[in-house]
Amino acid sequence: MVIVVGSGAGGATVAKELAAKNVAVTLIEKGPAIEEKDAFKHYSNVDSEVKVMRTICLGGTTTVSAGNGVRCLEEELKQIGIDLKSEFDEAEKELGVSVLPDSLFGDGTGRIIEAAENLGLDVKPMPKFIDPDKCKSDGRCTFGCPEGAKWSALSFVKEAERKGAKIITWMPVDEVMVKRGEAKGVRSGDRVFSDDIVVLSAGALETPQLLKKLGLPTTSNSLFVDTFITIGGILKGIGFNKEVTMNAVIKFADFLLSPHFSNHLVAEMEKRGLKASSGDIIGMMVKIKDEGVGVVDEKVEKGVTNRDAVLLTEGASIAGSVLEEAGADPSTFVSTPLRGAHPGGTARIGIAVDKNLETEVSGLYVADASVLPSVPGAPPILTIVALAKYVSRIMAT
Ligand SMILES: Cc1cc2nc3c(=O)[nH]c(=O)nc-3n(C[C@H](O)[C@H](O)[C@H](O)COP(=O)(O)OP(=O)(O)OC[C@H]3O[C@@H](n4cnc5c(N)ncnc54)[C@H](O)[C@@H]3O)c2cc1C
Repeated sequence: MVIVVGSGAGGATVAKELAAKNVAVTLIEKGPAIEEKDAFKHYSNVDSEVKVMRTICLGGTTTVSAGNGVRCLEEELKQIGIDLKSEFDEAEKELGVSVLPDSLFGDGTGRIIEAAENLGLDVKPMPKFIDPDKCKSDGRCTFGCPEGAKWSALSFVKEAERKGAKIITWMPVDEVMVKRGEAKGVRSGDRVFSDDIVVLSAGALETPQLLKKLGLPTTSNSLFVDTFITIGGILKGIGFNKEVTMNAVIKFADFLLSPHFSNHLVAEMEKRGLKASSGDIIGMMVKIKDEGVGVVDEKVEKGVTNRDAVLLTEGASIAGSVLEEAGADPSTFVSTPLRGAHPGGTARIGIAVDKNLETEVSGLYVADASVLPSVPGAPPILTIVALAKYVSRIMAT
């Protein structure tokens, strides 16, 4: 029997993989069961200089993802002895990762691609885990897809349940129980769940807290979030807000640029006295490999280092040039506040867990973004799913 704590990218995958191997699984989730389309109601962002984004609900933060599926940190993990090739292959197949057809590239994205190419930049389509036959291109990926076109961990939770896993929601785990160096279960308030294998998949902000309570080593002062801003300007009637978000990517060594709309842009324009409706704005995200020096303690502290600021500025200036070339009015350019949507690195492989993702406590594993060994600067879901498959294999043998 195995207890899995948290049902996002890591936890849902472990539950599904183990249930498929006839292992008895209890999946314990802090948040409620939800309908995919309502995921945005469950954002539980954490304020700091850089706002850290996540959702607390069944399916975790995957429910609000942009559907980007890339193999990040594959080489870095290989170098430390974790070869995920077959897990990545499997994950890509199961999530249905592919480039979307031309019909799902809107006018705004098309203009950005053309403008970037005119400026000599190398633009690639973003691989997506979005079913093109179901996608209605309504710009709602990060709210929760109303059509169920985008993969989310909810589908893995359902599959785990079909294979016999017990799913418990509204049950925040407060503590892992340990006896003589061995995992014995978890506690939530006065409820106790006993088992001798426990997998922590509560996400990078909560998993290290549970480890710390046991006096185990963490890297909770090495939080990264892939800090991002979105630069936007007015291009009347473009309708970019209804397009598939982040459908292309321009990669640089330490940052990436991608077509992206945010409602924050409307608010920022209002502050500047500019009148624009959502449909009149075109934008680009600048996402950096931030320095992993944030802290997860009673409070989360995540700021911008000098190096981070330089990268954001470089990215913003290139994004500005592309947007201007695409036809946006540069006198209207605004930026969103600083945010980070990929918290990770707070229980890293090599310090908090070994190569098998097991902690110093026998039978206590971690399978979520906490274990990532370095800053991805790229969407991490596929890598977390691959790592969760890898640790499931280890646990099942
Ligand atoms: C707006 C947005 C867009 C994104 N887009 C993409 C994208 O396109 N591609 C990509 O690869 N990544 C994307 N990400 C990042 C991605 O969603 C996360 O990196 C990923 O979901 C992290 O997986 P995880 O398993 O570590 O945590 P999560 O998926 O957050 O899962 C953690 C789970 O644990 C639960 N939990 C927390 N504490 C407890 C507790 N004490 N007891 C029980 N349960 C608990 C939570 O409710 C949650 O269900 C995006 C993130 C955001 C915010």
